[in-house]
Amino acid sequence: MTAHSLDPAPGLARERLRAVRGWRLWTIPPKAVAVIVCVELVTVLAVLVSLVVSYRECLTAVATSRLLLLLVLAVAYSEITYRMQRMRRFLVGNAVLIGLHSVWAFAGVLILPIGYSATLVCGLFLVAAMRRRQQKAVAYRLTYTGATVVLATLAAKLVITDLQPDIIALPSGGRTAMAITAAALAFFLVNTSLVVAAVHLATGAPLADLTPAKQELGLEAATLVLGVMIAETSLRLVWFTPTVLILLVLLQRSSLVSQLEVAATTDSKTGLLNAAAWQELSQRELVRAQRDGSLCAVLLIDLDHFKRVNDTAGHLAGDAALRAIGDALKRELRGYDAVARFGGEEFVVFLDDLGAEAAGQVAERVLARIRGLVVGGGDTRISLTASIGMAAYPQHGQTLTELMEQADGALYTAKRSGRDRVGLPGPAGVVAEIAAEIKHPR
Ligand code: GH3
Ligand code: MG
Ligand code: MG
Repeated sequence: MTAHSLDPAPGLARERLRAVRGWRLWTIPPKAVAVIVCVELVTVLAVLVSLVVSYRECLTAVATSRLLLLLVLAVAYSEITYRMQRMRRFLVGNAVLIGLHSVWAFAGVLILPIGYSATLVCGLFLVAAMRRRQQKAVAYRLTYTGATVVLATLAAKLVITDLQPDIIALPSGGRTAMAITAAALAFFLVNTSLVVAAVHLATGAPLADLTPAKQELGLEAATLVLGVMIAETSLRLVWFTPTVLILLVLLQRSSLVSQLEVAATTDSKTGLLNAAAWQELSQRELVRAQRDGSLCAVLLIDLDHFKRVNDTAGHLAGDAALRAIGDALKRELRGYDAVARFGGEEFVVFLDDLGAEAAGQVAERVLARIRGLVVGGGDTRISLTASIGMAAYPQHGQTLTELMEQADGALYTAKRSGRDRVGLPGPAGVVAEIAAEIKHPR
């Protein structure tokens, strides 16, 4: 410790105070700050208690060498993959990211005394903190994530009380398998629920949006299984343990590749497909329809007077309305109909195996759902309508470009004749207008 830190000069103290005031932590709601601070205090206490109760088991050559082995491997792994981790963090944005720290933490649960299990996780996050600026990680998020992993580790350790610290191999048999599974479950539940609760309080994002996706759950399961493998290998074939790094790097890479795939094909505002991905998918489906002689149709949906929504309720409310429309389209259409945000407040749908008449009914259903949608509440209650241009294969066009041009013309017809209706290409467009007029007299 330097003399400065014992007796800080007044200027230095003021500077530090200013730095603390500038923490990103203070920008989130007080409720979230309270939860984060509480969890971190509990964690510090829990680490101290775990060290006190297990110090005899910890201070042995076997336990210490195991701790060092896991720490060295974990640091090597994080050095090898730090670029990939940074990219993954960037791609998930606010969503809950499954960290691969669980691998080391869970291996520690199985082969280290409780005090060292917690020490290992603290060590991992200390190394991550030193890399924080390069990783562009936010300090309070990193410390909080560290705290959740420590608590998850301790919870798992309490579940799996059977394993003695001096084991030389994981005991075989169903009892151990069940105990390990229960510990993995405890680890996952404690970690995920603490992270989801904090993100929910900090960002106000709905809980449903924060539960980890199926793929992230698979990744978490894989990391915990690899943790068991590392534990077992380090007990039986200690020199072979570093080879597990190869598996881990491959796991991280495959997860990054699928995240990149999603990012390249998804519209970030609505979660629907983006225009390029929709075009590729629809082109493929149209070729299939041409080959099989089946039918299909395209719907071009444009929200009515959307500029007014932005002008009266604001751009953020407009964005919320776009998201609500995206959700409504997903719910109204079949899972295999390609739905995309085409740009701005325009959406596009490719309807497989449907002729013009059936596609027209789908379009009417979509309009009814949009009409029934209420976004926001109080002063910012937004009601919306949309107009749809429809074109069907083969009668309105042979290629996707022709169908899109025809749908665009039909949309123009629908707009011109009063909005909130379905338009068809050519003279039939008038028929559709009349039909719409009968259904929704103005
Ligand atoms: P209509 O289609 O019925 O003729 O009227 P409109 O007001 O919807 O017409 P237009 O297509 O000219 O305007 C589209 C508006 O959509 C303009 C723009 O402010 C808004 N918009 C486009 N993209 C976004 C977006 O991502 N978020 C928000 N909030 N608004 C957007
Ligand atoms: Mg438009
Ligand atoms: Mg519009």
